[in-house]
Formats: sequence, structure tokens, C-alpha cells
Amino acid sequence: MRPTGRTHLGHVHGILENWRDLQKQYDCFYFAADWHALTSEYKESAEISTYMLEMFIDWLSVGLDPDRSVLFVQSRVKEHAELFLLLSMITPLGWLERNPTYKELKTELVEKDVNTFGFFGYPVLQAADILMYKGDYVPVGQDQLPHLEITREIARRFNYLYREVFPAPEALLTEVPILLGIDGRKMSKSYGNAIYISDAEDVVASKIAQMITDPQRAYRKDPGNPDVCSVYSFHRIYTEPDVVTEIAAECRRAGIGCTDCKKMLVERVVRHLAPIQEKRNYFLGHLKEVEAIIDQGTEKAREVAQGTMVEVRDAMHV
Ligand code: SF4
Repeated sequence: MRPTGRTHLGHVHGILENWRDLQKQYDCFYFAADWHALTSEYKESAEISTYMLEMFIDWLSVGLDPDRSVLFVQSRVKEHAELFLLLSMITPLGWLERNPTYKELKTELVEKDVNTFGFFGYPVLQAADILMYKGDYVPVGQDQLPHLEITREIARRFNYLYREVFPAPEALLTEVPILLGIDGRKMSKSYGNAIYISDAEDVVASKIAQMITDPQRAYRKDPGNPDVCSVYSFHRIYTEPDVVTEIAAECRRAGIGCTDCKKMLVERVVRHLAPIQEKRNYFLGHLKEVEAIIDQGTEKAREVAQGTMVEVRDAMHV
């Protein structure tokens, strides 16, 4: 995960809760991709380390467990840079030019000036990040599949040119709910529409009060359509299933107003965040403990990376 901003509910439900559950089944490596953050944030690089520490605190608060998973910082395992360089020697330009996410991101990050070699080549860095740990699976969303395909192609090309070193990792696609921001667009810090896990109760309440509901429901007496309402999409995540069914029915017959419906949601989001925020406060008061966790994870990652690089250098005769 790129440390480029604060953690919001979209991260928690879209990514972190999935990562937390995967720990029960797999040996997982999760890292702060601070070099990847530089590809678009190179002008504001001083902020990356602040976001990074906070990001680890949020991971721990949501339930990532350093005894089960390796939690580390990409830039502190310099082997990633070496593998990136070596893999870039064998990656045809056409693979990067065809990358649909590259074209999309370039349009999205139009204010960032990402006409750089680093940005163009980031799928190779990503391949290095994944292949370094010889991962069997990578938890990705549907939109990340083209990236993973480039990684798989690079792994196959390396194995073909030299010798079998890398498994071609497979996608671990998990159905995760997509949370919209308070304006109905994708939740993102750049749209200013996010609810953050650090938000206090009054902030959560004021953000939920601004949320877009069914635009056709102008008056309290009008029946609504929960299927087009952002508040309802949140209820489906935070609210008990029988209450969700009741809300949908009541909304459709104008039995509940949007203000009350939003109040019910505030209660549940605040309840969901309470234990996470309690842990956050603990870790914010124990930063040395967090730093020790990051150091230990980085050490474990480095050991694995060093082993892989011995094989890679040997295979490539460098
Ligand atoms: S009652 Fe609830 S679900 Fe229905 S439109 Fe209002 S906020 Fe949305």
C-alpha cells in the first residue's frame, strides 16, 4: 500500500479487513510501498514518512498481526531496487506501454506531472516486490489484474531466459464491498469525500449528514429507492441484516426519513470504529513499539530478499 494519505473506511473494508482475514490462511507479506509513493508524490516526498508511520498504526489497529505476517518498509529492503533494475533489463517496452492502468492513472493524476521514467516503469518495480518473496498469490482487485499479468509475464520471461527461479503468482480475488464517498463517487482523499478511521464521532456524524441519498426523494413523504442511495450501501456493511431489510422496506414506503436513517448509520459506524480507535490511541502513545514491529518485519523481509537475490544473481551471472 502506498503511504500517500490517511486511512479511510474504503481502505478498511476494501483492503485491510481482507488482509487481516488472509493472515489466518497464508504466510503474508504486507509492505509500505514508499518508493511507489514517490512515483507520483516525488514533489511532496517529506510527507511520505509521516503517512507511513500512521499507516502502520492503522494496520495494527485493524488487526494485522506482526506475529503472523511480515510487515515492512519497501525502501529499507534495498534488494527491491536491485531486482527492479535486473528485471527492467528483460522487460519489453511494449508490455509497459500496453498497461491499461498506466493510461488510466496518467489521466487521473493529471495535476501530478507523472511523465517520468519512474512512473512508466512502476509495474516492473511492482513485479520485483512480488517476485522477491516468491508469492503464490497476490490479493488484488479486478482493476489490478493487468499489473499482475505483467508480473507473471516477467517471471515467465526470466525463467525462460535463465532458469526457473520465480513462480508465476496467481491473483487472489476476494469479493470486497466497494464503499462510496459521501458525494457518491469512489472514496478517495483527492476527492475530499472520505470518512477516515481517525474521525471523531461528531466528524463522522457531520460527514454522514452530508451523504447523497436517493436524488429523486425530495420530500420526507416521497418513497425512496435504497438501491441508488449511498447511505443504504453503507448500511449493508455496518448494519445487522434484518435491520437492513427493514430499512429498505421502510424507505420504499416512505416509512423512514433520511435524517433518521442517517442517524442509525452514524451509531453503527461509530460503534464499528470504537475498538479500532482505541487501539490507534494505544499505538499513538507507544510509537517505539510500532517502530520495533516495523524494524523486525523489515529484518525478516530482508532475509528472504537476500536469499532470492543470491539465486537471481547466480542465474543471470551478475
Ligand atoms: S431512507 Fe435511508 S435508504 Fe432511503 S433514501 Fe433515505 S437515506 Fe437512503
